Amino acid sequence: MGARSAQEIWEAALGELQVQVTKPYYRTWLEKTAGLSFQDNQFVVGVPNTFVSEYLDKNQRSLIEKTLIGLTQPNIKVLFQVSPERETSASQIAHPACNSKYTFDSFVVSNSNRLAYAAALSVAENPGHSYNPLFMYGGVGLGKTHLLHAIYHMAQANNIRALYVSAEQFTNEFVDAIREKSTDEFRSKYRSVDMLLIDDIHFISGKEQTEESFFHTFNELHNTNRQIVITSDRPPKSMPHLGDRLCSRFEWGLIADIQPPDFDTRLAILQAKAEQEKANVPLEALEFIAHRIKQNVRELEGSLHRVIAYAKLFRALLTPELAAQALEDIASKGAKSVPVTPKLMIETVANSFQLTPADLKGRKRDQVTAQARQVAMYLIKQTTNCSLAQIGQELGNRNHSTVIHACQKIASDMDDDPYLRRKIFDIQQGTYPKQKSRSY
Ligand code: ADP
Ligand code: MG
Repeated sequence: MGARSAQEIWEAALGELQVQVTKPYYRTWLEKTAGLSFQDNQFVVGVPNTFVSEYLDKNQRSLIEKTLIGLTQPNIKVLFQVSPERETSASQIAHPACNSKYTFDSFVVSNSNRLAYAAALSVAENPGHSYNPLFMYGGVGLGKTHLLHAIYHMAQANNIRALYVSAEQFTNEFVDAIREKSTDEFRSKYRSVDMLLIDDIHFISGKEQTEESFFHTFNELHNTNRQIVITSDRPPKSMPHLGDRLCSRFEWGLIADIQPPDFDTRLAILQAKAEQEKANVPLEALEFIAHRIKQNVRELEGSLHRVIAYAKLFRALLTPELAAQALEDIASKGAKSVPVTPKLMIETVANSFQLTPADLKGRKRDQVTAQARQVAMYLIKQTTNCSLAQIGQELGNRNHSTVIHACQKIASDMDDDPYLRRKIFDIQQGTYPKQKSRSY
């Protein structure tokens, strides 16, 4: 080991790891780690919290050990250790990192979302002093998460300690903390921030213990003027099983709804997205899409991607006719009328990879099966309300961190791999030709 400190070795290792994993993955799991000590054959890596520690231990131990061995000596055991001084900065990245594209600038404002946008901007600029809590609600794919991330980015830029977490992760961490008797750590993590951004709160409604814990967190933050922002798919009053105490607290501040966008807004969003993607899509094609997709901005984006991918794939000019063709199946199938279930999705994905559902649920780990399994996890997450834990269960009792990893992996692979992207679009639209063999 000589003169090189654990920190120096670890920095070199991070340099190598950085090129072996995707950028969001690196940011989420590795960026805020440190080389703490290196003695005999034990290398101790400091990590921000138990969530990251468990994740790395389970999923990346061998890659990390291999990398360290390459840099030092033939025999190394890695130990992940929560290192408390990193807690605050790191707890912010302990969750799938905030999407850097989701900013106030990239959010298209219209009558359907103006109040939510203005309120979000106001709490981001002036946390704890305008509306507290800010409660935003609206249907799927209307920009709630986008606004939360936008607040997060602005807070970061102003050196405000913000923590973004989905209610599902909050619940998982709470349950883990109880199991591991580390509730003090859990409590201090959530109560040491200036701003708590909690997404999809409807997830905890009815989970009494988690609600109770959230209630105390809420009070403590609120009493000390720290900003809380909450999103939900419905207003507090309409949440079944939500305790009265929490419900009334949610109504203390401002409640802002987000409605589906009108035609002009849909068109403006499509234009913004096409520009972001540097795709040259003629106005008529965008109008065509904006006419077709009405309820959901995510779907709007998906359709745009589908049309762009279609044009690239067939090297065709992007005309409204081509857009019509690309979107034909969506319209004719009335895809919305058939609710997607995990079972159905697993069958469809298996079919599209020429595998069986049993393959996806089983232990096979060859590349195709592994990818198909990850695609199934990704798509179930995208198209149903299943929790990560449920998704893991459906796919052969895998745990929720495996599912998180799969979703991130597929999302990033899609960026680089047009065939995968196309395949996923096809499955998503339910148009994958059944039983027909297609080389992939
Ligand atoms: P929700 O959390 O409400 O389900 P998201 O925030 O995930 O929805 O939004 C879905 C997608 O639509 C995201 O890619 C987001 O950037 C985009 N989006 C939604 N509303 C807008 C908007 N007003 N301007 C730009 N993009 C939007
Ligand atoms: Mg969301």
